[in-house]
Amino acid sequence: MSRISGLEKYQLQVKSGEIKPPTSCNSKNLTTQAQADEFVSSKPKKKLTTKQKILIGATTLLATSAAVLAGLFLIKDGKLKPAQFKEFIKFTPAKTMEEAREFAIKNFGVEKFDFEDDLEMANWINEGLTNVNNKFKGKAHMPKILAFGEHKSSQAQAFIDGLGEGIYISKKAYDKDANIEHIKKLMKNVGINIKENKITMLAGMDKQKALSFIKKYQEMIKSPDSYTRFQWADLQTQLEDAYASVHKPMRFITDISENKEISKILEKENIPIVLEEIFQKSPEEQTKIAQQIADALDKHKIKYNAQGSDRFLSTFDTIYHEMGHLQNYRNSNYFTRFFGKLSDRPKQIEKFTKDFQKQQIAQKISWYAQKDPSEFVAETFAQMCNGKELDEDILRLYKYYNGVTF
Ligand SMILES: [Zn+2]
Repeated sequence: MSRISGLEKYQLQVKSGEIKPPTSCNSKNLTTQAQADEFVSSKPKKKLTTKQKILIGATTLLATSAAVLAGLFLIKDGKLKPAQFKEFIKFTPAKTMEEAREFAIKNFGVEKFDFEDDLEMANWINEGLTNVNNKFKGKAHMPKILAFGEHKSSQAQAFIDGLGEGIYISKKAYDKDANIEHIKKLMKNVGINIKENKITMLAGMDKQKALSFIKKYQEMIKSPDSYTRFQWADLQTQLEDAYASVHKPMRFITDISENKEISKILEKENIPIVLEEIFQKSPEEQTKIAQQIADALDKHKIKYNAQGSDRFLSTFDTIYHEMGHLQNYRNSNYFTRFFGKLSDRPKQIEKFTKDFQKQQIAQKISWYAQKDPSEFVAETFAQMCNGKELDEDILRLYKYYNGVTF
């Protein structure tokens, strides 16, 4: 799973396809099946009657199914033991690729570390993992594989394989020039006109943030190469968040509804806010309501900025996010992952996306956390890595979806 760059992120094509086929399930089945066969074949020595054959067939089937089911259901779910890495690891940027690889092998037990000759990338990964390790005092699990990789069906910046073994980073998603082009488009889409230094305030947009984007962009574009590609990717992510806050305005509407004074004014203006009703509407209708609210606030000269998302936005957020998936996968059994509450089957996802309470909780984390339970867990973990204090209801939901706290 991943943080996806690009506008398609917002179209929320729920079928993410970010999980690779459950190869692990297959290998698990094979071993259990082999045991079941052995059990049956050791029994009969005489020639068998048809009845006996049917009976054996049925027994085999039952035994196999039971074993497979046991494999799916009974293996640990929510019982991941903490890892035992060093409580504190000191990070210093490696000077050679060999040094970077050795750091990952020695400290995190990484088995494959391959970022070709990209030392900047290797150091970024190692520093991010060190932060996670130190935050959880050596208890966080680490990937076995760290390498470049492109996701088959999305423009993920990074993703994790279905086994929770490897974290792959997209070279394409960290292409500085492409990011700069994308940033320009995003600016337009959130109502920022860089050339004329003007902002069209859209409902849900935070004016201070919009101003800070302009300032930051103008500063960075003067000498693009004195900023790392990770800093450019950060600006892109922040703009994507701003875009989401405008085009997924429930968070803005919720914030407004919690302000009693504003609620009174809106009632007078005949814009009653009944969150659960608005929640049922389409994003377009929600956006219209958000705009009505913004216009009413304007009319009454009330300044109110709300941001639909406030991810902490460390330069390592992508790594923290993927590490959240990794802990979550290893803390869940296959049934939960592929058929149960963490599955990406549309029906399972709807249990999350169409549930008003769950969405209200998830939107406190970020708009991306609202996408599906796995993303909620990954985004929450990223905020934990950033040291954010989390509300009780967030933690409860996080644990319900097998999020780890160690
Ligand atoms: Zn993800």
